[in-house]
Amino acid sequence: MTDVNKPQLKLLLAAPRGFCAGVVRAIDIVEEAIATYGRPVYVRHEIVHNKFVVDSLRDKGAIFVEELDEIPDGDHPVIFSAHGVPKTVPQAAKSRNMFYLDATCPLVSKVHMEAARHFEADCEIILIGHEGHPEVVGTMGQLPEGSIHLIETEDDARRFEPKDTGKQLAFITQTTLSLEDTRGIIKVLHERFPHIKAPHKEDICYATTNRQGTVKQIAAMCDILLVVGAPNSSNSRRLVEVARSCGCEYSLLVQRADEIDWQKVGKPKIVGITAGASAPEVLVSEVVSAFQERFDVTIEKIETAKEAVSFKLPARLREDMAAKVVNK
Ligand code: SF4
Repeated sequence: MTDVNKPQLKLLLAAPRGFCAGVVRAIDIVEEAIATYGRPVYVRHEIVHNKFVVDSLRDKGAIFVEELDEIPDGDHPVIFSAHGVPKTVPQAAKSRNMFYLDATCPLVSKVHMEAARHFEADCEIILIGHEGHPEVVGTMGQLPEGSIHLIETEDDARRFEPKDTGKQLAFITQTTLSLEDTRGIIKVLHERFPHIKAPHKEDICYATTNRQGTVKQIAAMCDILLVVGAPNSSNSRRLVEVARSCGCEYSLLVQRADEIDWQKVGKPKIVGITAGASAPEVLVSEVVSAFQERFDVTIEKIETAKEAVSFKLPARLREDMAAKVVNK
């Protein structure tokens, strides 16, 4: 029913949005580990980049640490985050006889395997990614120090000089980059090094690709586009950039509805809403409700792809879950 006291607003809800299969798996690993082995379970780094998710898991019995040496000796499991970890981390866990579960997204592990294959083939390896992001730290840490060159921009690609011009060059990428920016960097690399080896299949993952695809479709129609996600979430930040570059200047990241500056929002006609791969749907609903309190809202879902990806839990966890059910 039309509410004559409120300004009318159309909300375009992007689909797909929010949780990807890698994030669902990582959260399931923590929850199932708590249910199977009891509290606490330790998690190295934020399991996924979302405060709401981390706080919820903390309430259920997870203890988050940045490094293994913060974990006391004992038999409680430690879980590695979805972003992946350098090889030194499982090595350190083994040397302390820790029981660990690896929640690295299988699509990140695929990039780790590509890096290892290129290294075995004696290639000089370039990683396109963002310095300091845990996924980049994890991928670079798959190989001895200095084996991977990190480049972040087209300028970096123009300036890059191989250490050994006799070696075959190969590149891999972070999974959560902007497709457009990455294409630009790859174009420069191909122009400069026509024989450079590329990934067989795009390293940027399906979830990043699909979420950016929907944003591209709706951005130009929106007066405002909100991305529900965390400031340290790479794929969420890329969604804001994609929205801006595709015609919606007023695009921004919000973690929760209470961050929305309603003065600035003003009286838009069309607002787009999406969510990064680590943002739960409950936070999207919260943002939608906040608009419904202030506007007479019509919701339109814009779906540009269907997703049916899921990943298995680690074998050890599945076995222990099954054993627990049998022994009940
Ligand atoms: Fe895996 Fe992509 Fe999700 Fe990252 S964003 S956890 S790579 S599916």
